[in-house]
Amino acid sequence: MIQEQLWKPEIDKSECNNCRICVEFCFRKVFGIDADREVQVVAGDNCVNNCHGCEWRCPQVAITFPRPITQESANRTAAYYKKKGKKVPVEFIDFVKKRYGLGINAE
Ligand code: SF4
Ligand code: SF4
Repeated sequence: MIQEQLWKPEIDKSECNNCRICVEFCFRKVFGIDADREVQVVAGDNCVNNCHGCEWRCPQVAITFPRPITQESANRTAAYYKKKGKKVPVEFIDFVKKRYGLGINAE
């Protein structure tokens, strides 16, 4: 089990285009903008263990975590949306398929 304080995103700066989607999305304010106007991880300790919310929203696939999204965690995310009466986001379904080869039952 990965300890909570070690669970934080890493940004591949060679891929990141500073679009700020992660900054705006993250509800724990893990990302910030430095003096050069570049997006950085500024509060990694705030990251929620096993959350991958920013990873699949990054259009550059520039965010990684200590552990990849598994079928089990992908199913949990899908179940979360269904429980809320919402559709599983197409972006999420496409991302886990392309990056991890996982299939999600969106019904
Ligand atoms: S969403 Fe991805 S590309 Fe955009 S600022 Fe964040 S890490 Fe960079
Ligand atoms: S994994 Fe979740 S809590 Fe952590 S930085 Fe991304 S959106 Fe924020």
